Amino acid sequence: MPSAFSHAFVGAALGALFRRPGPPARFWLAGASCAAAPDLDVIGLWFGVPWGSMLGHRGLTHSLAFAVVLGGVVAALLFRAPAWRGHRLAAWLFLSLATASHGLLDAMNAAVTGIAFFAPFDDTRYFLPWRPIPVSPFGLRFFSARGFVVFQVELLMIWLPAASLAALAWTARASRESRR
Ligand SMILES: [Zn+2]
Repeated sequence: MPSAFSHAFVGAALGALFRRPGPPARFWLAGASCAAAPDLDVIGLWFGVPWGSMLGHRGLTHSLAFAVVLGGVVAALLFRAPAWRGHRLAAWLFLSLATASHGLLDAMNAAVTGIAFFAPFDDTRYFLPWRPIPVSPFGLRFFSARGFVVFQVELLMIWLPAASLAALAWTARASRESRR
């Protein structure tokens, strides 16, 4: 997997596509958390869930169905205030996209196990044909020499494109608003 930091960054960056004027910090935090959340499935490994099962790592929590459900639940919980009326669907879409970005990035990973995009309906594991992102060391081992090398690759392959996308969305919106 890419590191949790990179997943979280992409999740927050996607928010730039959906930003409404002055969204609170929780808007960005929710996107970042949704994008990092699928890897909580490693908890199952500690409890003996077999590697490669649908509930195992890169299984159900990395699926598109999970992204839609998690996005909906978080949107319903965090964006309940009347100020979000008319924007809740966009928030749902944003949070689902952020969650789904996790599986997509993982599928670009030079890892052994693919992503069960269509779980729970089909537990086939998928990779993208292009897998330039090296596997980041798990947990605290991220803070090691190898972890740092991998993180540099992630900065180039993940952070840079995500930041560019966010900057592009911002510029486009700013120029649209200044023309009004
Ligand atoms: Zn993952």
